[in-house]
Amino acid sequence: MYDVAIIGSGTAGFAAAIYCARANLATVVFTGDEFGGQIATTEDVENYPGFEDGITGPQLIARMQKQAKRFGADVKFEYIDNLDADGSPFKLSGRAGSYHARSVIVATGASPKFLGVPGEKELAGRGVSYCATCDGAFFKGVPLAIVGGGDSALQEGLFLTRFASKVTVIHRRDQLRAGALLQKRAVENPKIDFIWDTVVVEISGKEQVESLRLLNLKTGEKSDYPVSGVFVYIGHIPSTKIFRGKLEMNEEGYILADRRMHTSVEGIFVAGEAQDNYFRQAITSAGEGAMAAMEAEKFVAALGEPARQEAGAATGA
Ligand code: NAP
Repeated sequence: MYDVAIIGSGTAGFAAAIYCARANLATVVFTGDEFGGQIATTEDVENYPGFEDGITGPQLIARMQKQAKRFGADVKFEYIDNLDADGSPFKLSGRAGSYHARSVIVATGASPKFLGVPGEKELAGRGVSYCATCDGAFFKGVPLAIVGGGDSALQEGLFLTRFASKVTVIHRRDQLRAGALLQKRAVENPKIDFIWDTVVVEISGKEQVESLRLLNLKTGEKSDYPVSGVFVYIGHIPSTKIFRGKLEMNEEGYILADRRMHTSVEGIFVAGEAQDNYFRQAITSAGEGAMAAMEAEKFVAALGEPARQEAGAATGA
């Protein structure tokens, strides 16, 4: 029996683990298949406070893991595929076994939607990016493309104009989905232009992105468009499938939480991009992880059983 089971090993999960374990709760982190979450796929993290010279995503996660372990958190390379959410104690089932926990913190995150075109995977991190805040500063004075027509595409496109010589928004329709204010700001920005009714069908380049193969959906015409980088903003998918029908979520699958990270089930908390479709930053996810942990601690204490590292709990025995 654990006091707290944390599902997910990104910044939300490990921040929660640091707080829980340091509060002397018997804590386990189930890493899932993608250890470290989205930040672990980011080459340079320049905006995480405390690292004035930057840090790589994998290094940041490794440090957070070390910090959580220092306070006694157990880290299991386990994919949880079922949660019995009927009430505390909760039963979690994974590929390697079953576990019980008095409380649960869901920190399963989200994944950016991919275009699914040739060259996208091969050039990821070498000009193909899903995070302008993370990678924009690497593209100073060069032309960039943004794919998508929603708020994220325009907001991030506007951000990229600080660095790029030009930002071209490539959208599959001739009307933007984004809100009116962002549309106005983007249309009025002299560095932004638009290619309408068009999709990217291939991304090319030897070491770095060099050009995009475009298809005009109205005319059927194909063309090559030279750019140094392409930022894909066609939405995200929260990794919350196993909680469907158990925790309240919106129609997109984001888990609903109150301001203290409580879900619709008492004793189950949520942090990071499993519930946040807006900020999507390592630092905001980590902050929410700490908030969820503090609430989990209160919940466990209120059960009337002392929060403790039970014999064997820290090793999962
Ligand atoms: P979104 O609103 O779902 O927009 C995704 C965009 O990508 C749409 O324009 C869509 O085209 C396009 N798209 C989807 N699949 C595609 C594909 N396979 N190929 C090419 N284009 C594709 O996602 P989002 O912009 O990330 O926003 C998510 C939520 O966060 C929204 O509720 C948004 O309002 C909110 N948000 C708000 C702000 C703000 O207020 N400042 C900033 C960021 C996000 P179609 O339009 O044709 O469907």
